[in-house]
Amino acid sequence: MKVLMIASEAYPFVKSGGLGDVLGSLPKALRDLGVDVRVVIPKYQDIDESYQEQMTHLADFQVDLAWRNQFCGIETLEYQGIPIYFVDNEYYFKRQGLYGFFDEAERFAFFSKAVLEMLPHIDFMPDILHAHDWQASLVSVYHKTRYAHLDGYKDMKSVLTIHNLKYQGVFAKEVLGDILALDESLFHEEYMEFNGAISFLKGGIVFCDRVSTVSKTYAEEIKTAYFGEQLEGVLSKKGDIYGIVNGIDYRTFNPLKDPALSKRYKSSYKSKLLNKEPLQKELGLTVDKDIPMIIFISRLVEQKGLDLILHVVPEILAEGVQLVVLGTGEEHYHQALSEYAERYPEQLSVNLYYSEEMAHKLYGASDMTLLPSKYEPCGLTQLIALRYGSLPIVRETGGLADTVDSYWPETGMGNGFSFSNYNAHDMLHTIHRAMTFYRNPEVWEKIVKNAMEADNSWKNSAAEYLDLYEELG
Ligand code: ADP
Repeated sequence: MKVLMIASEAYPFVKSGGLGDVLGSLPKALRDLGVDVRVVIPKYQDIDESYQEQMTHLADFQVDLAWRNQFCGIETLEYQGIPIYFVDNEYYFKRQGLYGFFDEAERFAFFSKAVLEMLPHIDFMPDILHAHDWQASLVSVYHKTRYAHLDGYKDMKSVLTIHNLKYQGVFAKEVLGDILALDESLFHEEYMEFNGAISFLKGGIVFCDRVSTVSKTYAEEIKTAYFGEQLEGVLSKKGDIYGIVNGIDYRTFNPLKDPALSKRYKSSYKSKLLNKEPLQKELGLTVDKDIPMIIFISRLVEQKGLDLILHVVPEILAEGVQLVVLGTGEEHYHQALSEYAERYPEQLSVNLYYSEEMAHKLYGASDMTLLPSKYEPCGLTQLIALRYGSLPIVRETGGLADTVDSYWPETGMGNGFSFSNYNAHDMLHTIHRAMTFYRNPEVWEKIVKNAMEADNSWKNSAAEYLDLYEELG
């Protein structure tokens, strides 16, 4: 089985969120199952020099986009046994940052077309083209409309994985002819038309052979109007949407080997606790290992439920907890959080930056991780929190519902706490409920043990992807 993963980011080369993490870890798990899996991403300027130096030049050719004819180079390196290809064009990708430019449609149309063009040049004709999110969605569109009749491309199948339906790649309808060079007939509600514009993601959904998304619950949710972002109709029509929950890389996230921790631990709650005081000291909070610590590590955007937290900050702190926030995002959230941090310096620590190292320290030192998301396709944060024994308090949506089981004292089962309505007081009540268990160390240790024993590695999910590929092949 030969699979080419096509995406706009992959850890450790470039990452802006969960998509990058998945592309950095799923291929290795598939490789362990015997799949010849390779990855292709754009060659961005932001890729660290040390990786750029390792790349070798494999091929170059021209890619046409309507009246444009653009140079395309293919560079490659092998990372942990996985061949990685980089699509090189300095005009499109030698810029600071990954996204948000005036010509996004053209950049990712170029990328998608270049991927299909490069296959004979790199001598790799995969069985499956596995595209991720809107930036790679045109791969399925071009494959079906331009390449599927050609030798070598005929038997290929394409899979599109949606990591977040909110981001769709919607552009003016003129882009269809002027840049994509696709037939005007695709400007139709059955194909790529979307509210008078065109949607790359919709095109991918329509033309791919199979759609998947990153949890079973989200796969069902996105067929409804509340979660469907106006694509619920086309998704329902597509039929079965595969829901395969993400895993995390157990080597990267391992409290026993984590260099960021003051005290590494395997499953001992007492050892884990030794991480708390050094962190409290570092953040300027009251130093006392018996004070329960809740963390919130996230992009600061509406999706993540920050409005619920901001609604009841004093009430949360009245539970006698410390709250630590790590994240960046929308300015109004930065401001509101900073104001609260000034009011409660010993109990609330607000850290408005991105730092993997600080994130690891927080997972290691904290008791609970708060995730009151409005919607959550999968969520990696709660998977990491479970691995580090920081009990997740989540809203029951998407992947949060699939991976966190609320603790049930009658059975002793459960690895966290959850609530169903998007409501600040329901969240507060759930924090209060968690605190009643926290005060009973024997019970708490048991829930921490349940959390750390949950298997959220890629092993099971990679096998599900393999089933999906085999079913198509
Ligand atoms: P999303 O992809 O929607 O941002 P996920 O939960 O799937 O959410 O993935 C978020 C990942 O990014 C997690 O690994 C989380 O720890 C990490 N992360 C988010 N914000 C920060 C930050 N400010 N510093 C370090 N890591 C962060």
